[in-house]
Amino acid sequence: MAWQEELKNSITTVEQLCEKVKLTTEEREKYGKIISQYPMFITPYYFSLIDPDDPNDPIARMCIPSESELLQEGSFDTSGEASNTMQKGVQHKYRQTALILSTNVCAMYCRHCFRKRLVGLSNAELNEQVDEATAYVRNHPEITNVLISGGDSLMNPNEIIARYLEEFCKVSNLDFIRFGSRVPVTFPQRIYEDDGLLSLFSKYARIKPIYLVTQFNHPRELTPEAIKAVQMLQARGIQVRNQTVLLRGINDDPAVLGELLRGLTRIEVVPYYIFQCRPVKGVKGHFQIPLQEGVRIVDAAKALQNGLGKGVRFVMSHPLGKIEIIGEADDGRMIFKFHQNKYPEDASRIFFADIDTGSTWLDEKLNAI
Ligand code: SF4
Repeated sequence: MAWQEELKNSITTVEQLCEKVKLTTEEREKYGKIISQYPMFITPYYFSLIDPDDPNDPIARMCIPSESELLQEGSFDTSGEASNTMQKGVQHKYRQTALILSTNVCAMYCRHCFRKRLVGLSNAELNEQVDEATAYVRNHPEITNVLISGGDSLMNPNEIIARYLEEFCKVSNLDFIRFGSRVPVTFPQRIYEDDGLLSLFSKYARIKPIYLVTQFNHPRELTPEAIKAVQMLQARGIQVRNQTVLLRGINDDPAVLGELLRGLTRIEVVPYYIFQCRPVKGVKGHFQIPLQEGVRIVDAAKALQNGLGKGVRFVMSHPLGKIEIIGEADDGRMIFKFHQNKYPEDASRIFFADIDTGSTWLDEKLNAI
């Protein structure tokens, strides 16, 4: 079966979910309300990873709606994406990088998504013309790389992916091209069953380096199918990197996070960021972990790694930049460092902040909140 056909068997409605999971009438009503606000889409493959006997199953938590999504606390744009949008679908926050919103479709709508405002919903922020995105990048010679994101960039048809690759490969200021995709995790068949996609990657990886940045969050996602997809990409010259989101009830145990990091390095997927979960509306209340606790979990997980696994950085995507959460000083304050900066004066800046045990984020003045 072609992957497009397989996708048609995904779970998208409460009725379909009820066929698989026992729900009370009250839960059905609530889930219906949540899904009308934040769509649900679970591939049969990803659903098969759920342990039905575990009421707190981490895989289920990432794909099945939860009542806490109805909490109103938080915001929909936690890292200033609107202010970095230079033209429709093109964001330019860091000098060297352009980010393209290529689609609002994903193979699975992660319940912890930071683009909840967009995925499965609105086309309003998407780039529509590959030419227009390419023109922006060409006209800004300081841009050395593009991140084709979404949504999930590999949910674009191969023709669109080919257009991006063809055009960006011709831009001389680009050192490499990146794709952001959770498809290796949520729908690996999209990769290993599609020779057309793999041929495209083979062809263009000979012209410019191509990276695929994915998001494994739990070691149980490192299945034989996911590993097969990753290895088929690697065999075509694609470098696969991982960004994990630190999530309550999923990877907030150093042993689990440590196993994930180790599993990734074992398949030559270098883990390069662990993200502090953003204070997104519908996400903040149940997935965020306080900064102090988070840094302890990450440090304990890193202690279990070799040098490659230890290279991962714990960061937050803040409106002012990508801020590394370094740790706690002897006086109890927390130490942060700008890893990427929106404004030149913040480059590599180190700062301290007083943190309450419950603080989960920094405000615009870099005070803990
Ligand atoms: S794949 Fe990425 S963009 Fe899509 S829902 Fe998951 S986290 Fe959000």
